[in-house]
This record gives sequence, C-alpha cells and structure tokens, in this order.
Amino acid sequence: MEQAELAIAAERLARLSADFHVAVLRDWGSGEETPDGAWQNGLWSLAELDRLHDSISLLANSFGGSESFLNKVGSVTVKKGEIGSHGGEALHGRITLSSASSFNAWTVVHEFAHIWDENSGWQLSRQLERYTGGYTSRFFSWVKKYLRLADLNGFTKAEEPGKRGRKPGCNARGYFYGDKPSGSNYSFNRVEDFAESVAMYVGWGNDNALSDQARARISRYELADGEVDPFFRTKDNWAEYAKYFDPEGGDYSKTKRWRFVEHEMTRGI
Ligand SMILES: [Zn+2]
Repeated sequence: MEQAELAIAAERLARLSADFHVAVLRDWGSGEETPDGAWQNGLWSLAELDRLHDSISLLANSFGGSESFLNKVGSVTVKKGEIGSHGGEALHGRITLSSASSFNAWTVVHEFAHIWDENSGWQLSRQLERYTGGYTSRFFSWVKKYLRLADLNGFTKAEEPGKRGRKPGCNARGYFYGDKPSGSNYSFNRVEDFAESVAMYVGWGNDNALSDQARARISRYELADGEVDPFFRTKDNWAEYAKYFDPEGGDYSKTKRWRFVEHEMTRGI
C-alpha cells in the first residue's frame, strides 16, 4: 500500500467491516505504529482489498444475501502472513492469506467456507461426508495401501501421474470420499472436501471469478492419461480418474455435494 492510497484503503476497510463484518489486519501505515515513524507499505495492495471484497460478495450472493452470510459465517479477521506453500489457512475466526503470493477468489471462498464449517462446530463437513456416503478410516486406508490398491508409491505419494493419492482412502487421513468430488489429493479430508465443495458451488454454472476454475476442474477428466491439464498444468491419468470424479453428464450440479451445499446455504432464509 502506498502512502497516497491511505484514505482509499481506510474506506475499503470500512466497507468490508460494514458489509461483511470482516476486519483486515492492517500492516501498512506510519507514525506511532512503526519503529521510526516512517511509512511502511505492508503486504496488502489496494487491488487485493477490492478482490477480497468482490470474492466475499460472490460467496454472500450464493447465501442469498449478506444477512444469511453473516448469520452463518459470523465475524472474520483476515490477515497476511507466512504460512509455507499453501495459499491460506483458517481457524478461530481468522483467515491468513499467504504473503508469498497473491490470492484469488477461489482461495478466499475456500477459506471462508472453513470458517463457516468451524462455526457449525465442524458439523457441516461431517454431514457432507455422511450425505455423500463417505467415511474416514485409517485402518481401511492402510489395508488398501498394503494390498497395493492405492495410487501411491507404496505407502506414500510421489509427484508423478497415478501416484498422488487421489483415489478414495489413499490420502494421509484415510478419507474415503463418497459420490464425486471435483478432485482429490494426498491432503484431502472431509474438511477440505467441504471447503472445495463450497468453492465449486459458487463457481459452477456461473460466470464469475471462480467459474473458469470450476469448469476446468471437471473438464480435465475428458483428457487422456498422461496429458497435461491446460488450466492447472498437471500431468495425470485423467481418463483413469474419471470414474471417481467426472459427474453424470459432466454436470457438477448433479452431484450430492452440490445439493448438500445448496441446501445448507439456503436453509432458514
Ligand atoms: Zn483448506
């Protein structure tokens, strides 16, 4: 943030607070807050404050408006910080967006979905797991790995096609997802499944900042094994994985996940 943008930035923070009860932890400024009183740019840009607002708007619209969004998600604090290789983290009503790179609308919606889940006592992700016919079992995961039925390199993942642990139960948590998620990896579990399902719901069949990614999530299963997916730039055995992820008629709104999120979002409004 440049010093000349200070007033506009303050207006943006006020708007985030008024519209969505979102507080951004300010890391820019000068005066008593900084060691020598000199101006500090911080990590945020004005464009990112706008992107944050626009992304939350998309999510709030999916809830049928900000009142329902506020009731279900509650107050949230957003900051930037060093969190390693992933794009965001969400816990205790706080979202940390990675300072290593900028964020997109998908990341924002995904992290806010975690806070919504947290607000439900993590019941939403448990209900999603049950509703879609999934379960979590480290034991059955171990059995699958032991019997060499996992898409892994023995007991752990490798960064090559067909070995990233995308099949049910072949992830670190032993999460056997049910029905058809839009994708899966070694870190997949019911909590990530819920957050990704919300992001897919917001983007799918719409024309917004999440829609290209939502479409690309599904269309990659039409690729042949060993092809590079043009959106995510990953080479994998897409045709082989299609039976786990490609929804009926290529239409994600036919999945149980889509129905579950739709129901939970529009409940009680
Ligand atoms: Zn997540």
